[in-house]
Amino acid sequence: MKIAVDAGHGLNTPGKRCSKQFDTNETREWTLNNRIATKVCEILNNAGIETIRLDDTTGKTDVDLNTRVKKANNENVDYVLSIHHNAGGGTGIETYVCNLGCLNGETGKIARIINDKAVEKTGMRNRGVKIGDLAIIRDTKMKACLIECGFMDNENDTPLIVTEEYAKKIADGITEGLFEYYSINKPIEPTPEIPENNKINVVYQTYTNGRWQPNVTNLEDYAGVYGLAVTGVYANLSNGNITYKVHTKGGKWLPEVIDRTDFAGILGKEIDGLMMKSNVGTVKYRVHILNKNWLPWVTGYDEKDNNNGYAGILSQTIDAIQIEIV
Ligand SMILES: [Zn+2]
Repeated sequence: MKIAVDAGHGLNTPGKRCSKQFDTNETREWTLNNRIATKVCEILNNAGIETIRLDDTTGKTDVDLNTRVKKANNENVDYVLSIHHNAGGGTGIETYVCNLGCLNGETGKIARIINDKAVEKTGMRNRGVKIGDLAIIRDTKMKACLIECGFMDNENDTPLIVTEEYAKKIADGITEGLFEYYSINKPIEPTPEIPENNKINVVYQTYTNGRWQPNVTNLEDYAGVYGLAVTGVYANLSNGNITYKVHTKGGKWLPEVIDRTDFAGILGKEIDGLMMKSNVGTVKYRVHILNKNWLPWVTGYDEKDNNNGYAGILSQTIDAIQIEIV
């Protein structure tokens, strides 16, 4: 299963932005589209579904529609989802399919499920599924829809659609629609398990072998699977906050995450470095190198200090981690 996700326009496409009256930042439409597209891909990837993007994910260029269509057709994806935001007077969410045949067939059915789930999650007005003669859904040879996620020039919609929370809700709705139509099991959300006792416990898990592995508390075990690369890390404390980030093999240090607001890593990309710190006590952590050994414990948080600043040897894949608060 492969899905093409398309954030409409580019960052600098003229005119495509929130009206200043309701959003002083005049947030660009692509920025909103991209945020939702990124979340949709992440959720789909987590469920084992491959995704490709049809837009320029840096936003720099507004990839022309013909190129977008060709890419979807050449990659022979199973579904095309184009994400947009509306303007021109109105409120709510609406979804387009390309003609009456599509509307009355399976394409219309998927679009209705996606549209209604998006409405249900966000509480927006339901403008329904409509016909639109739009290249991205008309010229792509597979089933496709274009969802308009709210109005950029509406006093009700605009303050909502610029929020992170809204993007998360609608991405959840859209992906639930896809999961329902294609009968895909929704991935299990990592669950914090916080035991009760006086010590500050750290609870952590790795993403290994295509799924989140069981939670581990302190040093009762290690997180990971010997011989298989870790590509994501989740951690939280029973009391206080833990801040951490990982380095991808051949890549860079990824943004910091705090507790389970997000995970550290790019699922599927091997990690070769881990840094952790906490606002309570000291985080003591170490990593195991794939097919090798445990490296020494470290307690620092400094990517320039390869002695005690992070755990790992950049370029060597990590397959297990251990953490405790001391
Ligand atoms: Zn648009």
